[in-house]
Amino acid sequence: MAPPSIDLARFPRVPLGHGPTPLEPLDRLAEHLGGARIWVKRDDCTGLALGGNKVRKLEFLLGEALAEGADTVVTVGAVQSNHARQTAAAAARLGLACELVLPRLVERSGTLFESNGNVLLDRLFGARLHIVDDAHAARERTAEILDRIRGRGGTPAFIPVGGSNATGSLGYVRAVDEFAHQCAALDLDVDRLFVAASSGGTVAGLATGWAALGAGPVVTGVAVYSDAETTREEIAAVATHTAARIGIEGPGLERVAIVDDQLGPGYGMPTEAMHEAIALAARLEGLVLDPVYTGKAMAGLIDHVRRGVVGTSETVVFWHTGGAPALFAYG
Ligand SMILES: *Cc1c(COP(=O)(O)O)cnc(C)c1O
Repeated sequence: MAPPSIDLARFPRVPLGHGPTPLEPLDRLAEHLGGARIWVKRDDCTGLALGGNKVRKLEFLLGEALAEGADTVVTVGAVQSNHARQTAAAAARLGLACELVLPRLVERSGTLFESNGNVLLDRLFGARLHIVDDAHAARERTAEILDRIRGRGGTPAFIPVGGSNATGSLGYVRAVDEFAHQCAALDLDVDRLFVAASSGGTVAGLATGWAALGAGPVVTGVAVYSDAETTREEIAAVATHTAARIGIEGPGLERVAIVDDQLGPGYGMPTEAMHEAIALAARLEGLVLDPVYTGKAMAGLIDHVRRGVVGTSETVVFWHTGGAPALFAYG
């Protein structure tokens, strides 16, 4: 039976992505781990600018920005931000100017980090880059940029870090609808889902979407930026606002688990388990993961299967959120 649909037609949205993104089995990985049925939801294939999860958020964020008459998009992200890259590409496609404020949040030296990967693509898409030393400097620079745009009579649209607010999260409410229909067509009953979590809009949208449908898998968010408690608080705040926007209760996060045991030394810092996860996905499935987000999220999934927290008869989905361009900045 087809699941009910979530009606988001009243929210302005510009189509930017390719969809539905594929939902594919990872049988060789499952066999290697000796347990669980593992599938992957390919949001690395959202199409625009090498894909990733921010494309879904930007459809609603830029839909709103266009409706408000914006001519310039301003956003913030770490130097190797995938969100910044996808925003720059979307702005180019819509004929909007784009200014990116990129604080040095990851301690990495070497020229690759500030010239290759996402930074190379940001420049290719014609964005104006402002690489600054820390979060404080980023706030000051952002305020200056917004003043400058308004001073020349322009209309800026400011998009928060990761595109994580009630508008951006609608992209993942919509993704739940897409996913539920795919699962119904494949007769797939999913017990658990693993996804990387940093600014929280993705997990918030997923939780809100399943609250709207009244059922869904357990969502394990693998924290890659902050500790589990902070990540969970941020997700809860965005989810509450997203639910209010679509006019539903809650959602409580009873079916959301946030783990931070893959964070290692911190955001953007490599771990052994991340290296192993990237190698396994590549060598067993030809699947490309990234060092900052999906490598750590897959390490979380692998760890849960190995420890038997995920049972051998369970069906697990790895929600791939993109990020591969960062590989070329990590070398
Ligand atoms: C931004 C990002 C995430 C995290 O999504 P949030 O909504 O910020 O939690 C995960 N994976 C990749 C590749 C990203 O770029």
